[in-house]
Amino acid sequence: MEVRLVDKNDNKANFILKDVSPAVANTFRRIMISEVPVMAIEDVELRKNSSVLYDEIIAHRLGLTPLTTDLKTYNLLSECKCKGEGCARCSVKLTLAAKGPCTVYASELKSKDPKIKPVYPKMPIAKLLKDQELELEATAFMGTGKDHTKFSPCLAFYKYRPQIEIKGNPEDVDKVVQSCPVDIYKNEDGKLALNKDNLMLCHLCNACVEMDPKNISVEAKDDEFVFYVESWGQLDCKEIALAALDMLKKRMDEFDTKLKEAKS
Ligand SMILES: [Zn+2]
Repeated sequence: MEVRLVDKNDNKANFILKDVSPAVANTFRRIMISEVPVMAIEDVELRKNSSVLYDEIIAHRLGLTPLTTDLKTYNLLSECKCKGEGCARCSVKLTLAAKGPCTVYASELKSKDPKIKPVYPKMPIAKLLKDQELELEATAFMGTGKDHTKFSPCLAFYKYRPQIEIKGNPEDVDKVVQSCPVDIYKNEDGKLALNKDNLMLCHLCNACVEMDPKNISVEAKDDEFVFYVESWGQLDCKEIALAALDMLKKRMDEFDTKLKEAKS
């Protein structure tokens, strides 16, 4: 197996995964999306709410507010020693108190643990008019995307790596250049050439092949994947990928143990 990083910033990563089967690539994608745990608000106790929004809408918005997550300190609620009761190892309390006129932003959520706080402080929660009040206590738990999408750390997707070959020069070079929606080709003094920077953008639409099937071939390699991970901000992309691999290893170990038990 080979992994090559193409591009990375805080919230996005693009890498190539080589010499694996589609089943492995898809397992990796699914674990990242639905099994890597993150913190999200699950319970909200509204003490005062004279805003125009229903309690349920405020609770829903709070649930979808991404919170920074510390994987080392917190356990998944279902795997915690408290057996799902909620304790300091799997949950954290956040409070909010605001009086209008103002816009209530996510930054106004005061967390008991400074490591668990809203990722995007400028996310609006409600708008309060004069004398309207909002006061609440929220509890955030560790959960997984399998239970609710608010516990999902990222969007992850991949495509087969395109392999583009120019076998000969087409009669109408410009027609081929223009056919590509992502500018893979360029006209270099009447010769068809590849735009090296854009190669990974190819989404295998085959528009160029339709223009000239004799001279151009585009094939998808089914053991090489162009992977994209976009984090929602709770964890960075590297943390997500490493946690997913840990999770996969844990699952395989569990399978190994269970299988040995079954044999005897
Ligand atoms: Zn607990």
